[in-house]
Amino acid sequence: MTAMSNYLNSKSRVNWDEYFMLQAIVASFRSKDPVTKVGCVFVDNENHQLSMGYNGFIAGVDESKLPWGKDKDHPLEHQKYPYVVHAEANAILHSSVSLKNSRCYVTHFPCHECAKMLASKKVKEVIYFSDKHRTSESTKISKRLFELTGIEHRQLEIDLNLLSELTKSIENNF
Ligand SMILES: [Zn+2]
Repeated sequence: MTAMSNYLNSKSRVNWDEYFMLQAIVASFRSKDPVTKVGCVFVDNENHQLSMGYNGFIAGVDESKLPWGKDKDHPLEHQKYPYVVHAEANAILHSSVSLKNSRCYVTHFPCHECAKMLASKKVKEVIYFSDKHRTSESTKISKRLFELTGIEHRQLEIDLNLLSELTKSIENNF
């Protein structure tokens, strides 16, 4: 045995991008939306988490009186859309610190309503996992707002094998 034998060459299983996107994905699991679960995490330039959110009704309201359905044959009053607070909005509303120059990790590309808030908060960068609504009018408007306000955005693909590898490592760790 040498004096150096305890100096193992070891590294983290996940990089910062993966780590915060996984946090956003975990946050999305808190959402009760039966169709679209969105999670969001804000991070400063030293990789400290500032705030998190997921899509849901206003905290504290009697949720049994609000609709989760999105069937547009019903009047807007009986659809989920006017009642749900988006993940980014919740994270912004519940942040106790400034989000200026922060990075926003979010599971889905932000809608234009959230894009306005992100721009108003002077967020520096948006990193998203899914852009399944990429052809929507809302996404086009978000991109336009990001361009006008200098917010960078990029997609981060998480290899889903990473998730199962991490799950296996949980078993070995405890
Ligand atoms: Zn939104």
